[in-house]
Amino acid sequence: MAEIFQGSFTQQEPIPEDGIAAAVEVMRSGRLHRYNTAPGELSEASLLEQEFAALTGARYCLAVASGGYAMGAALRAVGVAPGDKVLSNAFTLAPVPGAIASLGAVPVLVEVTEDLTLDLDDLAAKVGQAKVLLLSHMRGHICDMDRLMAICDAAKVTVIEDCAHTMGAAWNGVPSGLHGRVGCYSCQTYKHVNSGEGGFLVTDDAEVAARAVLLSGSYMLYERHFAAPPPEVFEKVKYVTPNVSGRMDNLRAAILRPQLRTLSAQVRNWNDRYRVVEEGLAGTPGLRLTHRPEAEAFVGSSFQFLLPGWDAARIRDVLARCAARGVDLKWFGAPEPLAFTSRYDSWRYADLPPMPRTDRILAGLVDMRLPLTFSLDDCAQIARIIRAEVSTVYQSTPG
Ligand SMILES: *Cc1c(COP(=O)(O)O)cnc(C)c1O
Repeated sequence: MAEIFQGSFTQQEPIPEDGIAAAVEVMRSGRLHRYNTAPGELSEASLLEQEFAALTGARYCLAVASGGYAMGAALRAVGVAPGDKVLSNAFTLAPVPGAIASLGAVPVLVEVTEDLTLDLDDLAAKVGQAKVLLLSHMRGHICDMDRLMAICDAAKVTVIEDCAHTMGAAWNGVPSGLHGRVGCYSCQTYKHVNSGEGGFLVTDDAEVAARAVLLSGSYMLYERHFAAPPPEVFEKVKYVTPNVSGRMDNLRAAILRPQLRTLSAQVRNWNDRYRVVEEGLAGTPGLRLTHRPEAEAFVGSSFQFLLPGWDAARIRDVLARCAARGVDLKWFGAPEPLAFTSRYDSWRYADLPPMPRTDRILAGLVDMRLPLTFSLDDCAQIARIIRAEVSTVYQSTPG
């Protein structure tokens, strides 16, 4: 009998007990809104912001309602206006072009490499077309940030980083999110900390930080933010910045604070799992693993591999065989988007030209989550199943 994996690819760990206790405390107080504080009290949301700023080393931090909201606020805060072009990744998740579209701005997409990072040669060719790059570290793959920043600095292009999959990661020792002008993070259930929904924005730029706080819906209560610039910075922008409500509340903040304290341990747990899968798949005929450079301190919360040059029917066969053995793989090459596997050709509200290199790579791209509820043995079993099924299909004569 072939072994069958029994775990669930969508089952996250429970919220830590101290997070549950803190959340109950907030509910007992009734003061769930971040500006609803007792005299002398610092809200959970503002404490969370201070702690996330300290964790990343950023000067300013704002907690918001989602990662997508953080990106939209970042784009507005750096001055993107309707009709402006914004460079971004052809391979990313739908909320990234969605954030650009939410401002009435126009995405200009950059191709992806076989290692699933932004194609820096294509970026260099297109960098003159826009003043802002919304860079997505999609699935945690970080491009050569030194070269990227050199290209963007030379062209005076502002970089905003989408760190939905790189909270806790770094390039050359610099935390992901601190290379560009603004870093955006998600606290949604499937990311690296879990409050159901939620997000962060970090920056060292005082005026961008003040605009972001006002955008998030601070009314004139911005002095209750303690990871924000001083009041005189707000004075300059408070009458010209709209309130685009998207605040973090104290309940979510209470759940998140203990998770920040264990993030680095969780990163090690993810990477232990990632390395077991990687080892188990190494040398599988017909399967290409992504190369992870020395400078990239990544977080292996998901795993990708390529079946390069395979035709669609054979990839479907691999997915069906793995699914029958309990291994839930997603494929970015399917003609219709399923769940989160939407491709740039599904974003038809934007008028996007064909991206031949990205098409070729996505046609063979397979993706899976690695939740921390999987043990190392689970990960070894998953790799054995994938290896066996990929090998079987690869070695069968094409029908
Ligand atoms: C999840 C995700 C986002 C957006 O996060 P939400 O909190 O769900 O809005 C942005 N970019 C990428 C790559 C993501 O995976």
